[in-house]
Amino acid sequence: MLTRRQIMLSAIGGILAQHGLTPRAEASQPLFEVTLTEAEWRARLTPAQFAVLRDRKTEHAWTNHLGQEASPLLDEARAGSYNCAGCALSVYRSEAKYDSRTGWPSFWEPVSDAVLEYDDSSFFIRRTGLSCRRCDGHLGHVFDDGPAPTGARHCINGLALTFTPDATGVEEGFPVAHS
Ligand SMILES: [Zn+2]
Repeated sequence: MLTRRQIMLSAIGGILAQHGLTPRAEASQPLFEVTLTEAEWRARLTPAQFAVLRDRKTEHAWTNHLGQEASPLLDEARAGSYNCAGCALSVYRSEAKYDSRTGWPSFWEPVSDAVLEYDDSSFFIRRTGLSCRRCDGHLGHVFDDGPAPTGARHCINGLALTFTPDATGVEEGFPVAHS
């Protein structure tokens, strides 16, 4: 006979499978690849990064600041990778970035298998939160008023991200010869 606990664990397993995740056999093992204590996160992150990633705070629109820190990524237009500031996993690509005119970096799709959705009912508003698949760091929220082809608007805190521009193929110090 199945106990309530077994049924619940089985249901969780089904949900994880839908997200391409495999539940761990031992309950004592962490669900996420990167798990740190609060003290370790505080040592690794800046105060604003900690507030967003671990405490699910939201940076201000347009200025993209929180406390004394601000992110420049709203206006970032180079080709490259947007990474989780907590664990460096590539979570968004420049190809999916667009100007949503909301004041936050916005993307119409995440990198495959990099971002998880969760039910966020804070502030009495039901929203879908987004977190990093590897460290569970909170990134932002997803809404359904985005552009084609997905119709999704991933509204992301710039402070939750770092940016790595793609290599241009032109090494510094080796200028392209002009004839
Ligand atoms: Zn992460």
